[in-house]
This record gives sequence, C-alpha cells and structure tokens, in this order.
Amino acid sequence: MAQNMILLGPPGAGKGTQAEFLVEKLQVAHISTGDMLRAAVARGSQLGLKANEYMKAGKLVPDELVVGIVRERIVEPDCSGGFLLDGFPRTIPQAEALDAAIAQLGLGAPVVVNMQVADEELVTRLSGRRMCDQCGMILHITREGLDVGAPCPGENCNGTIYQRSDDQAEAIKQRLEVYKQQTQPLIDYYDAKGQLLRVEALGTVEEVNDRVTDALSGKGIV
Ligand code: AMP
Repeated sequence: MAQNMILLGPPGAGKGTQAEFLVEKLQVAHISTGDMLRAAVARGSQLGLKANEYMKAGKLVPDELVVGIVRERIVEPDCSGGFLLDGFPRTIPQAEALDAAIAQLGLGAPVVVNMQVADEELVTRLSGRRMCDQCGMILHITREGLDVGAPCPGENCNGTIYQRSDDQAEAIKQRLEVYKQQTQPLIDYYDAKGQLLRVEALGTVEEVNDRVTDALSGKGIV
C-alpha cells in the first residue's frame, strides 16, 4: 500500500525543509496546507479571503476550511502513490476528520514523524526565516545570508526573497501558543494509536535528514 506520512511539530521545527527532502526521496505528493492557503490568499480566492485574517494574526484557519481542502487534495491522482502532509492536521478534530477520510477511501494509515525542538530555538529560526515568492524555497538569514529583496538562489527561479507576515515577533508568539494548546495534543493522539515516530530536530538540515531517515528505516519505510 502507498506510504502516507504526516510531519508534525511546532512552527519553525523545519517541517517544510524536511518535507522537500522526503517527497524527493520517497516520491510522494507534498501537501502543505500553509502553502495551499498562502496560494489561495495570493489568488484572492474565496478561501484566501476567509483564511487571510487568521493567518496574519498567527491563528489557525477554521477546521472545516482546512479539512475541506485536504479532503479534495488527497484524492488527486498524484496522491495515489502516497502523500506527505506538512502542517496538517493541527487540531484533534482535523486528525479525526483525516482518519475518517482515510478509512472511507481505504488508504494506508499515515506514519507520523514528530519533530521536536526547544522553544528558544524556534523563535530564532522563525524570526530569521525567509522565503522565495516564486518557488517557495525556505531560507534562513544566517544560513544563506540572504535577506528580503534578494534574488532567489534557486535554479531557474526569478523569484525574490520575502519574509512571511506571520514570521514577525507578535505572530510568532501567537503561533507557538496556538501550537501548545491545539496541536501538541496530537502527539499523544498518534502515540496512542502506535503511529508516532519521534525525531530530535536540532542541528543542521543534514543532521535532521539523517535522523528522520533512521527513524523511517526503523519502520522499513526507506
Ligand atoms: P504553515 O506554513 O504550516 O506555518 O501555516 C501558516 C498558517 O496557515 C498557519 O499559521 C495557519 O494560520 C494556517 N494553517 C496552515 N495549516 C493549517 C491547519 N492545518 N489548520 C489551520 N490553519 C492552518
């Protein structure tokens, strides 16, 4: 059965960066609800208009909106070989809705990789995080030395580096609070179901890559 996965962890744990590496390695579809919502905001669609205020404030977009887009996405053809959810689920009701959709569609139960990082480190990572407005590449001012307005270093990309509005100090505080209250309970939820793998997400991207790979190979996935 196709391998489905969830990357769980606080904002700034490096989910997006590890997702880029994992989808390449496992050849599965990458489903980032944050990227989908940002694209909807940029398009000015109905969904984007509804989601924008929550996102800017560092709050969660209502469950029914996010569950709706994920339900539609996981039945697309590129997900038949497996998918990796990045940033979803973020609440218990979202996890329950995902379980129900997976059961209904007869898909494989996802393996959940929980990326653990201390709070102080998260603030440093989030406040220094930058992104490309075209290809979505994730950078850090101290790692790549590129800041807002610089051209994207990606191959064949004409994008410009920007800072996400929710990576500003106030929104970061709010997002970490929201994570603790609403998302952290998912660790016990998936642990109780025997689906959880724990990975220490401190260190370089490569070191975390290695730990994620080790955890997955322990389950015979890579
Ligand atoms: P991310 O890129 O995953 O950090 O998501 C950016 C923002 O999009 C979050 O702070 C939320 O406002 C919204 N968002 C992304 N995924 C979800 C989700 N699963 N549930 C609710 N809101 C979400």
